[in-house]
Amino acid sequence: MLEFSVGAVLFSAHAGGGKAIDTCKVLAHSTNRPFFTFPTIASTCASCTSLGIVYHPDGSLREYSFSKIPLNHIFINTQIIAEAPDIYLWAGMGDTMTKHYECTISSRNDIPAHSDAMGIALSSMCAVPIMRWGEKALADCKANQVSDELTEVILGIIISTGFVSNFVQVDYTTGLAHAIYNGFTVLPSTEENGHFHGEVVSYGILVMLTIDKQYAERDTLYKFSRSIGLPTRLADIHAKAEDLAKVTAKALAGIDVRVYPYTVTEQMIVDGIMEMEAYDEKMR
Ligand SMILES: [Zn+2]
Repeated sequence: MLEFSVGAVLFSAHAGGGKAIDTCKVLAHSTNRPFFTFPTIASTCASCTSLGIVYHPDGSLREYSFSKIPLNHIFINTQIIAEAPDIYLWAGMGDTMTKHYECTISSRNDIPAHSDAMGIALSSMCAVPIMRWGEKALADCKANQVSDELTEVILGIIISTGFVSNFVQVDYTTGLAHAIYNGFTVLPSTEENGHFHGEVVSYGILVMLTIDKQYAERDTLYKFSRSIGLPTRLADIHAKAEDLAKVTAKALAGIDVRVYPYTVTEQMIVDGIMEMEAYDEKMR
């Protein structure tokens, strides 16, 4: 990642999509400079949001950083993203779908104000198009080929999700799937095996929908996840049932489910994960 200042402008040239952009974004927030993004991969909505995620050197989550001012402009070259490793797009699809499920569940007991309501309404753009075009988009990315399907998925990952994130309050932009992801960041095996944010978050959606008893939606997402190889069981993310005490403690240590239609307990997460394990076993 190259990063250089020109006058009052902090420029960032990224070989990245999530952590690289967030690093420069937090720097821009803290030095009060305008910020432009050039996503070279579509792995998260980081290049469109004012939220920056800060990690410890060991890869575990440290904190969320917020700015009232989003970035000034995003420059997206779909050919560059088509030529980037397809695994980033694959993980990005997982993170994108999360936005829809988390903001609809997190806001369920509230009467959202205008900006929140706009974001929640927009959030269906983060799930339906991904499931509609995701498999073809991934194949096109593997072939380094820009197509309408790939463009739709890139716009879904970066723009739709970024707008939802900027419209809704932080308690709606996150939820139990991200809490579960944060939990798995404490396991050295998550970092050692190079599991992506969006990859683990997509597994978190399956657990979240199971806990929420949205079985029809869970089953639809499960089929899609299996079709493109997103994780559907603990073994897919190199985790074991005996790791879960650490995972659930970390999952609930953050702010992700402080606004939620019901109180989430560690036991609830363990039960959701084990129920998913049984479902996955049955479906193979
Ligand atoms: Zn995310």
